[in-house]
Amino acid sequence: MKLTPYNNASTAAITKRALVIGGGIAGMQASLDIADAGYEVVLVEREPSIGGHMIQLSETFPTLDCSQCIMTPKMVEVSQHPNIRLMTYCEVEDVTGDVGQFDVRIRKKAAYVDREKCTGCGLCVEKCPTKVPSEFDLSLGKRKVIYVPFPQAVPPKPVIDAENCRFLTSGKCGVCKKVCEVEAVDFEQTDTMIEERVGAIVVATGYDLYAKEKVAEYGYGRYPDVISGLEFERLNSASGPTTGEIRRPSDGKVPREVVFIQCVGSRDREKGVPYCSRICCMYAAKHAMLYKHKVPDGQAYVFYMDIRADGKGYEEFVQRGVEEDGTLYLRGRVSRVFQHGDKIVVWGVDTLAGKKTEIAADMVVLATAVVPAAGSRKLAKALDIVTDEYGFYTEAHLKAHSVESGKPGILLAGCGQSPKDIPDTVAQAGCAASKVTALFSASEVGGSLLDLPMRFTASKSLRE
Ligand SMILES: Cc1cc2nc3c(=O)[nH]c(=O)nc-3n(C[C@H](O)[C@H](O)[C@H](O)COP(=O)(O)OP(=O)(O)OC[C@H]3O[C@@H](n4cnc5c(N)ncnc54)[C@H](O)[C@@H]3O)c2cc1C
Repeated sequence: MKLTPYNNASTAAITKRALVIGGGIAGMQASLDIADAGYEVVLVEREPSIGGHMIQLSETFPTLDCSQCIMTPKMVEVSQHPNIRLMTYCEVEDVTGDVGQFDVRIRKKAAYVDREKCTGCGLCVEKCPTKVPSEFDLSLGKRKVIYVPFPQAVPPKPVIDAENCRFLTSGKCGVCKKVCEVEAVDFEQTDTMIEERVGAIVVATGYDLYAKEKVAEYGYGRYPDVISGLEFERLNSASGPTTGEIRRPSDGKVPREVVFIQCVGSRDREKGVPYCSRICCMYAAKHAMLYKHKVPDGQAYVFYMDIRADGKGYEEFVQRGVEEDGTLYLRGRVSRVFQHGDKIVVWGVDTLAGKKTEIAADMVVLATAVVPAAGSRKLAKALDIVTDEYGFYTEAHLKAHSVESGKPGILLAGCGQSPKDIPDTVAQAGCAASKVTALFSASEVGGSLLDLPMRFTASKSLRE
């Protein structure tokens, strides 16, 4: 089939290979869908493993499925799919060309380990004498300097953290090299550049949470027992630093009263971002519920502005937390969070009861704003696509072309476009993949595809 141009624009051949940037659930799903349709995929992930944030989660709303049980087989499927070339610890540097024929330069970062030779035996990690805070456990736990980020990592091969490696910084140590039987440790390794030609690109780079310093007024970064929602996920995870027991970071005690605060940075025109982060109402309800399951005599409080539980089964989930697990919801903003003895005191207003509230809690969990992943603007520039004022990738048309970027052949999936939960992320990734396979089903690309998003630029912006 040849797609007929609707104007006189020239046509071009299509390279039927896709690039997917970002190996979270969005990028993994898009890769699998494109690969299952019979097309090759190059999946580029900048971390040493795929999995994104979802592999950090303990259980997921609204069904409380174990996140790792969903993710682990999917991650293995991605790595073993004959049509997927997995490139972890790599970053896209530069993209030229157009739909059908993009030329991509990818930086393969020096891992100081030949990951082809490495058998993943783990001896180097075991013998490495230096420990540093683990990024995967958000510094609540430690990892070695030669490390696999988490036990289920894909690929299960280590990288060396050059900044903290004693051999690379001072020429001392080198234990990992000495114990490696297959001689995979290579301190001479440098970054290398790889070039790939692809016909379409799916951008699935996901999100970060608001930086600690931006929400310092809640004591985050100052008091160890004020943590983020993602940190709570790691505390609750069986593979986390407390093997799933809810223990507060300062002294390891089981917290008897926990305050969950929503909209920390979100929906805050003065100090934060004006948009709703969409997932916090649900994960705060989940956290309160999971906490109560682990600490049956404990009490969870949730400070909220209003509850946005608009997915399938979501409202029922929130109600279940209130009715079965006794979560106490307090409608109002928090005015102050401070340490008093070994308690974290939270002052707020219960606007429904019309009175001030004070809770002397053992731990406080903040639902901090969802923001685009670091580097999203730089990547958008390399791809020649547009971001909004916050750095989320802008779709060609919010209603009619919500997964297309403004540039033909470049599709968007997941939280890099806007904050969303896992069901919406997976659905959007499938949609982006189907746009790619539709493009690849044509023999050449012409004016209709080249001009597609332009036909919708009359769409009103959100502010109009
Ligand atoms: C505390 C918390 C609890 C949650 N609980 C739930 C829940 O119970 N149920 C639910 O439905 N949702 C939940 N969510 C939401 C869920 O995490 C997201 O919907 C999902 O992870 C989005 O996936 P993603 O692939 O878009 O992004 P991410 O998971 O962020 O993955 C993006 C990937 O892209 C990589 N990347 C970034 N930039 C680049 C680059 N330039 N080059 C290459 N790779 C790059 C990243 O390293 C990462 O691997 C929760 C979120 C939080 C914060």
